[in-house]
Amino acid sequence: MHYPLNKYFLLYSDCTIISGYKNSILLDFTRPEMSNFVPKELSEFIEKCAWQTLSDVLKFYINDDKKVVLEYLDFLTENDFGFFVSESLKNNFPPINTKLKNSPEIIDNLILDIDSKNMNNLKSINSLIERCLISSIEIRGINLSIGELDQIIQMFSSSVVQSINIYLDSTLKNSNIETLSKIIAQNARIKKLVVFESIEVISSDDGIIHFTSKQLNFDEIRRINNINLSFHLEAQKVCTFRYKKLFIDREGKLKNHPNSKKLIGNIQFDEINILIENLKKECKTNKEWYITKEQINVCKDCEFRTVCFTNNLPIGDKDDNCYLQAECTYNPYIGKGEGEEGYKTLEECGVISNESGFIIDHDKIAEINAELWTEE
Ligand code: SF4
Repeated sequence: MHYPLNKYFLLYSDCTIISGYKNSILLDFTRPEMSNFVPKELSEFIEKCAWQTLSDVLKFYINDDKKVVLEYLDFLTENDFGFFVSESLKNNFPPINTKLKNSPEIIDNLILDIDSKNMNNLKSINSLIERCLISSIEIRGINLSIGELDQIIQMFSSSVVQSINIYLDSTLKNSNIETLSKIIAQNARIKKLVVFESIEVISSDDGIIHFTSKQLNFDEIRRINNINLSFHLEAQKVCTFRYKKLFIDREGKLKNHPNSKKLIGNIQFDEINILIENLKKECKTNKEWYITKEQINVCKDCEFRTVCFTNNLPIGDKDDNCYLQAECTYNPYIGKGEGEEGYKTLEECGVISNESGFIIDHDKIAEINAELWTEE
């Protein structure tokens, strides 16, 4: 393929490459399914392209290396990840502003544990949701009857909330898709309803209702890769698990998240205005809300650091020694996840990350990677 040597090659603004210790990943936020691992050399090539014409960039490469970077260019242009631009127009495509956006919501996401007792607080909870402009709720129902579920769904039927996911314990395992479909039809905000410990494993045709044999695990450490531009931008500035997140437990206690020990207030006893003030104060003053993955040992070396959503929270001081409370299921030093062939723990790779600090044995990792990844 012929390329305009006197032009610059740029990635589209909804695409970016994040490099970790072992791997780089090309993220396409408009077409998340196109996101994929790419060689680290491709990432270095793209960095050079941002400030020099293609002709100048190619001077860095000779023989086979030059052939390889031209293949990178074929890959990037054929898959529509980037474009050529002239010197005069180049500055019309500035990088995306990564400043944390000043949005009006006080809380963006609520986890609500609800049982018959907490049902009495439903009206106050709804007022808090409206005042905080909460857009997304995860409801975890415990011992709820069909009538109570119906009441909850109706309560949020004309709400500011845009998306509701409901997880129900085994109490309603003997209900059926028809009954639940009728109830959720009252509220288009319901995106998912899962009934746990069901004997029958079945889903509704629209994919909203699921009966599963699994148990509802309130403590599960989950890691989801969320390829979404606003999440990626936010992850560079805040702790995505804590920032503007709220949890209300069955006794009406407000906390930042289910494992937090710090009480923000109680929906049963405190006035909504007081709760709002407390939440605003948390957002302004709680340093934990602003720990980014870049500041956490191990995560800072991971290519998923701007798209990873996990409740595996960091411990320690971001300016000194900040580490994950439990080892992640992905090891960024060898590019392998738990369960994959060749996976090794951090310790097996010579990486120690705990309250005593961070130690890394680069030689040992290089040896392991040579064994794992060198083609015979
Ligand atoms: S190491 Fe694990 S928790 Fe940390 S960014 Fe990577 S995938 Fe997420």
